[in-house]
Formats: sequence, C-alpha cells, structure tokens
Amino acid sequence: MIDVIIVGAGIAGASTAFALQKRDMRVLVLEKDSVCSGSSAAAGAFLSPKISKPSAYKNYLNSALAYSLAFYERYFPDLLYKKGLYKLPLDSEDSQRCNSYEPYIDFPWEKRGEGYFFPEAGLILPDKLCRELLKEVTLKEFYEVSKIVHDGNVWYVNDTFSAKYLILATGDTPEPISLPSLKSKKIGGYRYDVTFREMREHRHNTHKDISVSLFLKEHIIVGATHIRGDIALEKAAEQDTFHLLEKAKRFTPMTSVKILQHYTGYRRFSFDYFPFAGVPVDERATLTKYPYIRTGAKVPEKQYIYHPNLYIHTALGSRGFVFAPYNAKMLADAICDAIPIQRELLPALRFRKWARKQR
Ligand SMILES: Cc1cc2nc3c(=O)[nH]c(=O)nc-3n(C[C@H](O)[C@H](O)[C@H](O)COP(=O)(O)OP(=O)(O)OC[C@H]3O[C@@H](n4cnc5c(N)ncnc54)[C@H](O)[C@@H]3O)c2cc1C
Repeated sequence: MIDVIIVGAGIAGASTAFALQKRDMRVLVLEKDSVCSGSSAAAGAFLSPKISKPSAYKNYLNSALAYSLAFYERYFPDLLYKKGLYKLPLDSEDSQRCNSYEPYIDFPWEKRGEGYFFPEAGLILPDKLCRELLKEVTLKEFYEVSKIVHDGNVWYVNDTFSAKYLILATGDTPEPISLPSLKSKKIGGYRYDVTFREMREHRHNTHKDISVSLFLKEHIIVGATHIRGDIALEKAAEQDTFHLLEKAKRFTPMTSVKILQHYTGYRRFSFDYFPFAGVPVDERATLTKYPYIRTGAKVPEKQYIYHPNLYIHTALGSRGFVFAPYNAKMLADAICDAIPIQRELLPALRFRKWARKQR
C-alpha cells in the first residue's frame, strides 16, 4: 500500500519524498529518467542569500536558506560545503545598490573589499543529495507518467499505481494534467566541472555574474550561464567554453584547464518568482461554477474547486536547492497536519489573476 505518489526525482520531488517518509507516509517516486537528471543535475548547487531591499520574496528566500542549511547540516553534512561565499557586485551601479541595502542584510556577513563575504553560505552536491533523500522510499526510475485519473478518492497513475495523494514535481516538463493558471517562464543555462593546475589553492566560493566553487576533492564548478529563448543548450555548452572560463579567470588563476563534464538545464520561474507549492485549482470546474470570477467578482479562495489530494511542487527558479527542503516541510505539514502553506506559494493566488483574463 502506498500513501503518496510523487512524480519527478529532482530536488523538489526528492525533498518532498524525504519529508513525507519522515512523517511515516509510504511514498513511491516515479521518474521518467534517472534521479537528478533534469534541471537539478545542472545546478551548482550554491546556497547563498539575497542582497536586496526588504520584500516578501527576500524574507521567504532567506528563511528558506536558513532552514535548508540547517537541514543539510543535520542530515547530509558530508555533502555540504559550508565554507562561505564571496559575492561581488556586477558593476559600480550594483555596488552602490548593494551598499544601500546593507542595513537589510539579514544573514551573517562581512564586507571584504568591494564585495560581501557570507561565512554561512556554501554549496551542496546535487546528485548525491537527491539519491540520499530517496534512500528510504520506493523509487522507480525510467518510468514516465503520462496518465493520471482521480476516481473514488484515489489517484490512478498510468492505470498501474494508485494512492490517496499525488504530488507533481516535474520541473520544467509540463505536468501530466493541464494547469493553465500556473504560468511560468524558463531560463536555460550550463555549467562545467573543471580541473586546472592551481585548483587546490582555490578554497572559497565566489559569485559575480557567474560562480566559481571552492576545490571539491577532485574538481571545481564553474557556471552558470543564463540564456533566454530557445537555443540548443548542449551545443552552446560545448562551443562556448572560452566565454565562461575567461570569466572564471577573473577570480582565480587557471592554467592547464580541462573541462571534465558539462551540464545543461532550464530554470522554471513563476512570474512573481515564488515557487508553486500546494493544491492546484481545478480551473474549468471553478470557472463553470463561478463564471463571474472572469469579470473580477470576488469569490473566497476556499470556495474554489481544487483537485482533491493533488499537490504541486515546482517553479523553483534558480534557487531549487535553497527552496526545496523548506517547501517540502510545508507540504508535509499541510498533508499530515493540515497546517497552511505560506500564502505566496499557493496555486490559488495564480488562479485568481489568470481567471480575470479568461473573458
Ligand atoms: C545551469 C543551472 C544552474 C543552477 N544553479 C543553481 C544553484 O547554484 N543553486 C540552486 O539552488 N539552484 C540552481 N539552479 C536551479 C535548480 O537547478 C532548480 O531550481 C531545481 O533543480 C529544480 O528542481 P525540480 O525538482 O523542480 O526540477 P528537475 O530537477 O528538473 O526535476 C524534475 C524531474 O521530473 C521528471 N519528470 C518530468 N516529467 C515527468 C513525468 N511525466 N514522469 C516522470 N518523471 C517526470 C524529470 O525527468 C526530472 O528528473 C540551477 C539551474 C540551472 C539550469
């Protein structure tokens, strides 16, 4: 007997599986490729705070970072490199902006030259982390979910698996159910694992327009790029090595450079940058019941019609490894103890905006 089926074994699906399994739920994870093969494979995965003026998003990000760092330290200390991160402004305008935001930096920091050193920041090894998170749950790799049906309080997946709860964590791949109100955009990118003669001396993470990691036993991470529009990422990653390595050389001397491997992927963002976490609205059923929502009439969110026991955890943007454990805890609290999820993450908020445009 399975309680929850999770579709997708990236950091969103793996973190959610871990949180639910810790709450004694019997979890099955279905992954169309292998664990950590989507966007999560491409991640650095740097864990750093945001320097900006106060906002709900900054509060969420820095709360998620504090939670996730403590979570990784508690459960996966061997995979966490919490050795600090040195953030450099992009240019003089950015430097002025950062200076003006100094009173609002709510994470331990030190000013070093033009930049900011965050001693508690760092990075985590993505592939090993996703595997470890899934160690105690039932996992089926190379299994694509193409059909989901809800009938009699049970979710049926591909007419083969069934469970009360279904969680979609499919990253930048469209969900196997239409959810038109959850609009998002994608930004592609690539990064490299590299070796070079001087790498053993490079003992801190640096971030400007790209990041260069500290020395990780055998290599250093360089990346990532941010590419809008549909371009062949694999080709770009193979051909554009000079561009990224030249940027990396601003931070550290690099001779006899060898690229061991490149990784490509897409970051999926919502339009307000908050991830999607919670129960999606059944758009068609809600608009049929309350057609006047289209004209802006207010219907309380609790009266919307929701997909029963269906949850989504996606659109983690460029901070998946910061957000996922934090969101996963909220999802587990919601499913097991009916504790409300942070409002900004809820699919219902997006539905309201989307519905007004459906005239
Ligand atoms: C170049 C790059 C650099 C990045 N750097 C960082 C960083 O430094 N720090 C950071 O925190 N974040 C970083 N990110 C962002 C981070 O990688 C993402 O936010 C995160 O990986 C998203 O995780 P996910 O689980 O939502 O998606 P994914 O990792 O894409 O996982 C979704 C999984 O679902 C599976 N799937 C999809 N559809 C189906 C289906 N129908 N049936 C079965 N399985 C399915 C896919 O195969 C995939 O494995 C970076 C991203 C990129 C692209």
